[in-house]
Amino acid sequence: MSQPRILDGKAVAASVLEECRSETAALKEKGITPGLAVVLVGNDPASAVYVGSKTRTCADLGFHSPKIELPENTTQEELLKVVADLNADPTVHGILVQFPLPKHLDEPEVIRAIDPRKDVDGLHPENVAKLVLGDPTGFVSCTPAGCMKLLEVSGVEINGAEAVVIGRSMLVGKPVAMLLLAKNATVTIAHSRTKDLAAVCRRADILVPAVGRPEMVKEDWVKPGAVVIDVGINRIPDSTKKSGSRLVGDVDYKEVAPKTAAITPVPGGVGPMTIAMLMKNTLQAARQLG
Ligand code: NDP
Repeated sequence: MSQPRILDGKAVAASVLEECRSETAALKEKGITPGLAVVLVGNDPASAVYVGSKTRTCADLGFHSPKIELPENTTQEELLKVVADLNADPTVHGILVQFPLPKHLDEPEVIRAIDPRKDVDGLHPENVAKLVLGDPTGFVSCTPAGCMKLLEVSGVEINGAEAVVIGRSMLVGKPVAMLLLAKNATVTIAHSRTKDLAAVCRRADILVPAVGRPEMVKEDWVKPGAVVIDVGINRIPDSTKKSGSRLVGDVDYKEVAPKTAAITPVPGGVGPMTIAMLMKNTLQAARQLG
């Protein structure tokens, strides 16, 4: 079997961030400093890591990046007040509330409270509607946007391709399916009730697993020459590692990679793209809000 092309998310993300750097400089010359506020509620260690890398990237690009850390026992009213204050703050163009929130908080209500013009995560119903309508003034959820950017820069033919997305979340599965459809793929969205998932996946020229089940997609699920964009990030035990664990995707990479034309690794594939697209969305918000 021939060597697959590795879709290097780190490299593509680095070039997106370079574009962001020059756009930031251009906005600053016009007196606009892009501002992204990140809100972290509680002590979830994974969330703290994500927020840390987002604020570091903001600082590196020269964004204004207030980080609001709230205790685990924050009430819904207190969180909504923080969001309202950020909505009203002219130095803040983008607002990101890190999910998951502690169980007692109502995520959909928080999403609806964010000014859609500052919803750089692309989760507000108004932005979801704009995605479906193909209105470019809306914000596209960052991970799906990152998947599309990887396909685009890799020159993968989407027009007319058979695409299968596994997963139907509002964060990844549904928006990525809409974006593939907008580029004229024939799209199937599979999920936990899909019958004979392997057979559905075998139809795919472009396969996008976004499930959260380690190494679920096996070699015989994949059509020879398919392009695989593995969104899954799963931590599994590994006694050979100092940390005792390692990250894997939803795809059994070792088995599947040799059969593909191109594939994203985990880590280093879709993951780095997410932050890069968040920065791009913040710049879009800064441009649009002025
Ligand atoms: P969700 O848990 O919200 O959604 C998972 C989806 O997978 C659901 O639609 C579910 O179906 C489906 N599913 C679950 N089990 C199966 C199964 N056995 N067969 C087929 N479908 C199944 O997860 P997210 O969309 O938020 O995230 C998906 C993965 O992507 C996770 O690993 C997450 O860590 C990763 N992720 C990575 C990001 C990155 O930056 N690379 C960013 C965001 C997420 P149903 O609807 O029927 O329950």
